[in-house]
Amino acid sequence: MEKRRTVPVKIDVDSDDTALLEDTVDEFLWAAKYVTHHAFEGEYVTTSKTTLHDDTYEDVRDETALHSNHVQAARNTAADACKSVVEKWKQGKKASMPHFTSPHVVYDHRTATFHNEYVSLATIDGRIEADYVLPHDERETPHADYFFSDEYETTGAELHYTNGNWMLHIHCIQEVKSDTLEQGATENRTVLGVDLGVNNLAVTSTGAFWTGDEFDHWRREYEKRRGDLQEHGTRWAHENVQAVGRKEEGRFKITLHRISNELVAEARDHGCTVIAFEDLTDIRERTGASWGHKWAFNRLYEYVEYKAAEYGIDVQQVDPENTSRRCSTCGFTHPNNRDGEGFECLKCGYENHADYNAAKNIGLRYLRRNQTGSGGGAPVGVRLNSGMLNANGEFDPPAEDSARAGVHAESPPL
Ligand SMILES: [Zn+2]
Repeated sequence: MEKRRTVPVKIDVDSDDTALLEDTVDEFLWAAKYVTHHAFEGEYVTTSKTTLHDDTYEDVRDETALHSNHVQAARNTAADACKSVVEKWKQGKKASMPHFTSPHVVYDHRTATFHNEYVSLATIDGRIEADYVLPHDERETPHADYFFSDEYETTGAELHYTNGNWMLHIHCIQEVKSDTLEQGATENRTVLGVDLGVNNLAVTSTGAFWTGDEFDHWRREYEKRRGDLQEHGTRWAHENVQAVGRKEEGRFKITLHRISNELVAEARDHGCTVIAFEDLTDIRERTGASWGHKWAFNRLYEYVEYKAAEYGIDVQQVDPENTSRRCSTCGFTHPNNRDGEGFECLKCGYENHADYNAAKNIGLRYLRRNQTGSGGGAPVGVRLNSGMLNANGEFDPPAEDSARAGVHAESPPL
């Protein structure tokens, strides 16, 4: 099987080259839109890459100065986006024609060359070279572990322009030939879904949970100490406030390291090849979490990703929409399904802890997203504390010999 990693690397681009990259982004997005419009023209949405290639390749070559591989990459980007719209329709959801607004370009090994200190990128007018901007201490960074590692092969990248920076999201792949991993891949290709929140920091689709109590306890404790110190108002007190802040961060990190170890252990114990989280971008708006919580969620995600990689377990984020309102059993989605910590489906009556229901939905969403095509290493089910959910949300009870003693199927985490 393969271990896949994406390493974000900032690159240093001067103003002339920035102009070239901007034009390349514009033409790339134009090409993706052109193909998408074509796909939506007929009675049915065309999602076949071959058909879309035949229908649009020459036009896009005529209209743009894009490298031929960028033309293909734009067509693939469009085809994938159209495919996911069709998937949503099949599930009875609303979706409209994709718009490509986020400035990006997809690079492969023909359009990007990764050197030790810099990358060479194809543009609409020849190539440019840009230095990597790397952390000073490279030990134990994703750059050292994957990008510059001899064990990983760099296969391509997405160039993004965000907050005034050019970023490469570099894809690295390692072939893993381990007996245990191969065995895991064929026998137990399953996903561990993880829901993050305030009351419970994390709940898995196997029913394991980590409360936010310890986190909240330490936060209150340090707030109090900070408050006591600030009352003194002296320079000495000010320095101590900062020291308390550093200690607080250190304390939280220790807790988060422990939780991340236990989360990875949970995935390994259940033979999961993927751990799925919800997309963390807007998690404060969704969960009412504080900045402190968001900081904690991001750290936790990073630690899990880093540690899971050692065991060939992939860590992914999925679209969080409705994961807390949707019934993981019948798929019925309604805000009133959820009441605080409780979940009770208004349609089928399924009852469980709300975070546990959400964790299962996150696992299911990953599964559905990866069902199309690829075959091979794609996971086949979401791992529950006993038995498995398949992509249709149907529950397969465990085989007799794999039932775990002392754990009830479908038991709530609290
Ligand atoms: Zn239901």
